[in-house]
Amino acid sequence: MTAADAPSTDAGPRAAVLVTGTEILGGWVTDRNGPWLARRLGTLGVRHVTTVAVGDRPEDLLGTLEGLAARGIDLIVTSGGLGPTEDDLTTETVAAFTGRPLALDEALEGRIWDRVLAYVRRVASTGPTDLDALRAANRKQALVPEGATVLEPIGTAPGLVVPGEHGPGRAGVPTVVVLPGPPRELRPMWTAVEEGDLLAPVLGGAVRRGESTLRLFGIHEAQLADLLRDARRDGVPLDRLEVTTCAHRGELEVVTRWDPADAAAATALEEHLASHAPRALYSRDGRGVAEHVLDLARERGWTVATAESCTGGLVAAALTDVPGSSAVVHGAVVAYDDAVKRRVLRVDGGALAEHGAVSATVARQMARGALDALRVDVAVATTGIAGPDGGTAEKPVGTVFLAVATRDGRDEVRHVSIPGDRASVRERTVTSALHLLRRVLTEP
Ligand code: ATP
Ligand code: MG
Repeated sequence: MTAADAPSTDAGPRAAVLVTGTEILGGWVTDRNGPWLARRLGTLGVRHVTTVAVGDRPEDLLGTLEGLAARGIDLIVTSGGLGPTEDDLTTETVAAFTGRPLALDEALEGRIWDRVLAYVRRVASTGPTDLDALRAANRKQALVPEGATVLEPIGTAPGLVVPGEHGPGRAGVPTVVVLPGPPRELRPMWTAVEEGDLLAPVLGGAVRRGESTLRLFGIHEAQLADLLRDARRDGVPLDRLEVTTCAHRGELEVVTRWDPADAAAATALEEHLASHAPRALYSRDGRGVAEHVLDLARERGWTVATAESCTGGLVAAALTDVPGSSAVVHGAVVAYDDAVKRRVLRVDGGALAEHGAVSATVARQMARGALDALRVDVAVATTGIAGPDGGTAEKPVGTVFLAVATRDGRDEVRHVSIPGDRASVRERTVTSALHLLRRVLTEP
C-alpha cells in the first residue's frame, strides 16, 4: 500500500486506536475493529497516528494509555474488555488513567439487567442460571467514570465517552472513547458517537472529510502509478487529495480522501481514470465485482449458476455473500472429479482425454453443462491447477481456464496464468471469473 500524497490533516487532532484482548494479541482472533475504526477516523478529519494491541493485563493497558498521552494523542478509542467477567478491566483502567472515580449508575444497571434477563430467558433451556452471580457481574458493567457519557449497550456492555482536556493551554488529557470488543456491538456504537456529535470538544475545528473508493481490474499497479502521474501532469490537483492505492485479490483499489473544499479535485481524478482506463475502472461506488454482477443480472432479469473445479464453490460463495443474491443465483455444481464433470455437467469424455480437465474446451463445456443442468440464463466455469502439486511443463501451477455461457448462445473463454500459492490462485480465479461474467453481462 502506498500513500501517494500527504494528508492535509497534519494540523488536526491526533488519534490512536487501542485494541485490547489477549486473543487479539496472540493471533487467535483477527482484529476487525482497528482497521474499521481507522477508516472511520480518517473521514472525521482526525489524523490516525497509530493502532496498538495490548493483552488483558490492566498494567499493560494503563502503561499504553499513558504512553499515548505522553505522545500528545488527543483522542484514544479503545476496543474490548467491557464484559462482565474478571478479565474485562478497560473501564476501571480508563477511570484510573483519567483520574475520575467510578460511580454506580443505577438507571443504567436496570437497563442492562433487563437485557440480561431477556437473554437468559432466550437461552434458559441450556441449563440452570445463577441469577445472583449475574446480578453482581451486571453491576460491574454499570460503573461509570465521573463526567463520562454513557453509550447505550447493544449487547450488555455500555460504552463510554470520557472527556479529556482540550483547547489552548489545556492539552494533555486525551478524550477516551471506550467501546466493546464484538464488532457488531462496536460499529453501531461508534456510529452513535459520530451522530451524537459527542466528539465536538476534541475535534474542534476538524472538518469531516469526503472519501471514495474506486476499483479497477485488468491493469497492474505500475500502470495505475502511470495513470496517476498522467493525471497530475494533466492538471488534476493530486496534492489536495490523500490517495491510497492497494492491490487486493487481483484488483486495484484507489481510496481517496479530501477536505470539503477539495471535492472537485476528487471528481477530477475520478474522471481522469474513467476516461483513460475506461475498461479497468469498473466500480466508482466502492462496491465489489460480485455486487456489480448481481445488479447487471438483475437488470436483465437473468439467473446465474456456477460450475467450479479449482475454486470448489468459492465463486458461488462470493456471489451468495451479497444480501439479496437468491433472486439471481440459482445454484452451483462443484465438479472436482472428472466423473462429476462428465455425469453432472455432461462434459465429453473425449474432450477430457484429448485436452485434459484444465483446458479451454472443458471450461466451455462445464459452463454450458451448468447452464442446462441448472436451467439458468448465464453460467460461469472455472478449471485450473491451484497447486502445490499437479503442475506440468505445459500447464504449470496457476494455469486457469474460465468460461461463460449464455442462454442466447454466447461463449466466452479465457486462459489466465496466476502467480502465487494455492490460496492466491484460488482467490484470484474467483475474481477473474466474476469479471468475465461481468464483461458478458455488460455486452449488449
Ligand atoms: P464481552 O461482553 O463479549 O466480553 P468485551 O467488550 O469484553 O465484550 P472482549 O472480551 O474484548 O469484549 O471480546 C469479546 C469477543 O469479541 C472476542 O472473544 C472476539 O470474538 C470479539 N472481539 C473482540 N475484539 C475484537 C476485535 N478487535 N476484532 C474482532 N473481534 C473481536
Ligand atoms: Mg470480554
